[in-house]
Amino acid sequence: MRFNYADTIKKLPPYIFAEIDRKKKELIEKGVDIISFGVGDPDLPTPEFIIEAMKKAIFDPKHHQYPFGKGIYEFRNEIAKFYKRRFNVDLNVETEIHALIGSKEGIAHITLGFLDAGDIALCPEPGYPAYASSTLINKGEVYYMPLKEENGYFPKLEKIPEDILKRAKIMFLNSPNNPTAAVYNEAQFKKAIEFAKKYNIIIAHDAAYTEIYYDNKKPISFLEVEGAKEVGIEFHSLSKTYNMTGWRIGFIVGNREIVKGLGIVKDNFDSGVFSAIQEAGSIALEKGDKEAERLREIYQKRRDFFIDNMKDLGWDIKAPSATFYVWAKTLNNMSSTQFATLMLDKCGIVVTPGNGFGVDGEGYIRFALTVDENRMKEAFERMKSFF
Ligand SMILES: *Cc1c(COP(=O)(O)O)cnc(C)c1O
Repeated sequence: MRFNYADTIKKLPPYIFAEIDRKKKELIEKGVDIISFGVGDPDLPTPEFIIEAMKKAIFDPKHHQYPFGKGIYEFRNEIAKFYKRRFNVDLNVETEIHALIGSKEGIAHITLGFLDAGDIALCPEPGYPAYASSTLINKGEVYYMPLKEENGYFPKLEKIPEDILKRAKIMFLNSPNNPTAAVYNEAQFKKAIEFAKKYNIIIAHDAAYTEIYYDNKKPISFLEVEGAKEVGIEFHSLSKTYNMTGWRIGFIVGNREIVKGLGIVKDNFDSGVFSAIQEAGSIALEKGDKEAERLREIYQKRRDFFIDNMKDLGWDIKAPSATFYVWAKTLNNMSSTQFATLMLDKCGIVVTPGNGFGVDGEGYIRFALTVDENRMKEAFERMKSFF
């Protein structure tokens, strides 16, 4: 037998993190003590009350059958209550909410619901790779919207050519942003909404990090902004808020027609989210505010410690106001890959090269603050002796 990968798979952008990962494994084999700021995955465990809820749920036979569809009522109801309490956004529990197997799953499938072959998705760049890769796998085309520091990492919408806009069906946005940590304000979202209305483009807003913020500066939801529900939806997730990346649970909220479109795709692709996990997720949303606050306090301490130490090392850097990422220019104008390789070889520290998020990430690296303060201290001692 000879196997041939589909053209769409062959055309995917190269996996730039592979080389760093290979090197990292090689060094670990040699016994080097690696400190990793690489992965955007919380290092702390899921809070105990959520695990307890899961423990109880898992013995209930009602959860042992196909979950199908938009999700159990309790979960959707807690999502609606969370959106009301946190963002003052009203959601219809029956039509404007759908459970997802992690928000990445919804991001990957929404293009199937709304793009035909040759249609365009507008994707931020640097950006979370799933927006573009799902578009390409689903036989759409990608138009990259550069996010530049001087524009607050918000895309210059007026620069997108008219012929692109005619073929564009969906625009992905992400605030608080991975990897740049930018947070969009109401005026920026308003601009996007007006633009989307004018050109008949769906806005798919990725809100995975709204609960990871500092100094009590709460990021807004896209859906808080007037007119948002007419043009778009928001993806949200329990992954980052409650350290639940492994559980695979998220949701889509917003425009009912768009929610329905994704629902049709999902009906044909999967059979729902394990309802015991949905039950635990309901408890997380219902009772998790305090725990989320405790986690923010931990990240805030880490952020402050990290930024202070970076400044000592000569980095000219602004503290992020949300997300657990620090997006920094490399030192001495090195390329992202050069700098990441040097950090690994000389300091045993893993960072993510910014060009892995797209060409406009070149010259940057991303640190994930998913490392405790003791290890951070060790990391800075190594950097100080090297630089
Ligand atoms: C982590 C992350 C998600 C969340 O993914 P899940 O599938 O819900 O775990 C979504 N978007 C971005 C930008 C992320 O960094």
